[in-house]
Amino acid sequence: GSVMEKVLQRRSLQMRNMQRAWQESPEGNKMLDFRKSLPSFKEKERLLQAIARNQVIVISGETGCGKTTQLPQYILESEIESGRGAFCNIICTQPRRISAMAVSERVSAERGEPLGETVGYKVRLEGMKGKNTHLLFCTSGILLRRLLSDHNLNGVTHVFVDEIHERGMNEDFLLIVLKDLLPRRRDLRLILMSATLNAELFSNYFGGAPTIHIPGFTYPVQAHFLEDVLEMTGYKLTSLNQVDDYGQEKLWKTQRQLLPRKRKNQITALVEDALHKSNFENYSSRARDSLASWTADCIGFNLIEAVLCHICRKECPGAVLVFMTGWEDISCLRDQLKSHPLLGDPNRVLLLTCHGSMPTSEQKFIFEKAPPNIRKIVLATNMAEASITINDIVFVVDCGKAKETTYDALNNTPCLLPSWISQASARQRRGRAGRVQPGQCYHLYPRCVYEAFAEYQLPELLRTPLNSLCLQIKSLQVGSIGEFLSAALQPPEPLAVQNAVDFLKRIGALDEKENLTNLGKFLSMLPVDPKLGKMLVMGAIFRCFDPVLTIVSGLSVRDPFLLPQEKKNLAEIAKSRFSAKDYSDHMALVRAYEGWKDAEREGSGYEYCWRNFLSAQTLQAIHSLRKQFTFILRDAGLLDEDGGNNKLSHNQSLVRAVICSGLFPGITSVVHRETSMSFKTMDDGQVFLYAVSVQVIVSNQK
Ligand code: ADP
Ligand code: MG
Repeated sequence: GSVMEKVLQRRSLQMRNMQRAWQESPEGNKMLDFRKSLPSFKEKERLLQAIARNQVIVISGETGCGKTTQLPQYILESEIESGRGAFCNIICTQPRRISAMAVSERVSAERGEPLGETVGYKVRLEGMKGKNTHLLFCTSGILLRRLLSDHNLNGVTHVFVDEIHERGMNEDFLLIVLKDLLPRRRDLRLILMSATLNAELFSNYFGGAPTIHIPGFTYPVQAHFLEDVLEMTGYKLTSLNQVDDYGQEKLWKTQRQLLPRKRKNQITALVEDALHKSNFENYSSRARDSLASWTADCIGFNLIEAVLCHICRKECPGAVLVFMTGWEDISCLRDQLKSHPLLGDPNRVLLLTCHGSMPTSEQKFIFEKAPPNIRKIVLATNMAEASITINDIVFVVDCGKAKETTYDALNNTPCLLPSWISQASARQRRGRAGRVQPGQCYHLYPRCVYEAFAEYQLPELLRTPLNSLCLQIKSLQVGSIGEFLSAALQPPEPLAVQNAVDFLKRIGALDEKENLTNLGKFLSMLPVDPKLGKMLVMGAIFRCFDPVLTIVSGLSVRDPFLLPQEKKNLAEIAKSRFSAKDYSDHMALVRAYEGWKDAEREGSGYEYCWRNFLSAQTLQAIHSLRKQFTFILRDAGLLDEDGGNNKLSHNQSLVRAVICSGLFPGITSVVHRETSMSFKTMDDGQVFLYAVSVQVIVSNQK
């Protein structure tokens, strides 16, 4: 013990010398000046004291006030300054891998050190940390995993759980596990950080833990809703039809041409009605959906373009942040803007993107100031809403939609379709414009739509399908699902949980004692409904993986076959060419996908889609999901390297049997629906029996 103690003491002194040397250097000094300008600096002493005196505290403060980069750093610095640097071990969790990486890099830079020295990061499959790392940024999934094998979190002195206002599933899980740990580790400090003022909820959960708010200063931001935006930009709703001017080729790329004129007119009327009467609540949900798809799909891009032009021509200097739903939309819009005479001119506009799969090297640019007379425009996902702060933003364009957060593979319930954001998110997005001077926010939806938004987003724990949620919990090995969930901040309905557990037992993912079976282990890794996941596993086992992979990916995204009202007959004929032989929707999907892959290889993918009434965007999404599933299952050791899993892929009866058996719990309804479109695959009873026997074999394999 004492030898170790001496080593650590010596190391601590070294750390102190290095820290002082940096702080006294000119660059270090400059960095300190910047850090002192952040709102959290004024609260530094109060925060350090509160953390020293309480086991748990809850901190709230507006995004950008310095919670993530500063607070863990204050602890680190004060420990180092007091000569105890080598004895402290601080962990700070982030909901997304990209923020863990970006933040650790920033904090290292603030300390004048290379990443991986005192400050490091760890995300799934990647990390930069060393024996000298005392402040680690990691995803919440990583910390959860660590807690599974290291129940007492030995050696860790402080845990920060960041962005708890997002109510991500991993964060909620972490709180359950940490709450259980605290009595066993009286010396451990837990600090919860939130960007909104909902500290009460968390404080109560931890028996009345003290809360501290960091007052921030932001400039006022003027909100414009669609009605104002249309007036300002002179954009005409009737220019819905304007999409036709864009030329076929381009339209295919953006997939915006699919709305027939008649429907466009209906929607125009609907929107105008909504704008003038402001009685959106009275609309049926169908009408709301139409309005939604109108904003998102129809003229979304052109309207954004019009707003960006307006800003560039008429408004004062300042960077623009555009919130979009995902990488596909961002890259489509970027392509569209690139060919615009003003917005695509690199001498006048610096066009940048910011999204989850962006390489770290590209990240740096979004924080840098644009050269004078050049307008910086950042196209971002809702990542830029709270976890990343770009300082010079003066204008925000908000499309009002988001794909709900997806996380690392530890818990993986993807949401593939964008949905409306909450009022809280809309306000948060607006706030991004007021960091350096008064700003402007353009919400591209009517005010009445905003008023119909939910006030807050539902916690992920409550919006994740329970089947998937229960599998996730089982894979955490935290004992009974029911008991674990009942300890949550806001637990789901116990009866619904019980139903999910029963279902998982029925499909063979859990055994009688509620233990995860082998099948269940695979299913918990797959970001898809367990029923579909089971098809994948069976496809691999029965050596017809590839077609099953396409079908499952298709079922999880959506049907790539388009049925435009105006050309319904033609579209149906086109589709029947794929399913002619066996009337199978599933096999039609496989053939359509394979045809598209061939066409893509020859560079005629779009033409192929156009001819066959297929959505290129959907096929692309299916393609990337296929890759994701393959990656996970190969990683899990279920796929052979030599392609053995595809030996029987040509056997269509087998493929159908696997699909049917995947749907096993609902198989009777499948039989009933035999006459309806989707399940004509069951051409004879034999396949059905085969499917049942496949089911039995797989259940017995555990
Ligand atoms: P919070 O967690 O409260 O939202 P952060 O600690 O992430 O705030 O950021 C505090 C401030 O640090 C930001 O307002 C920004 O000015 C600055 N900052 C953060 N990351 C970077 C970066 N990578 N490059 C430059 N400045 C940054
Ligand atoms: Mg933060």
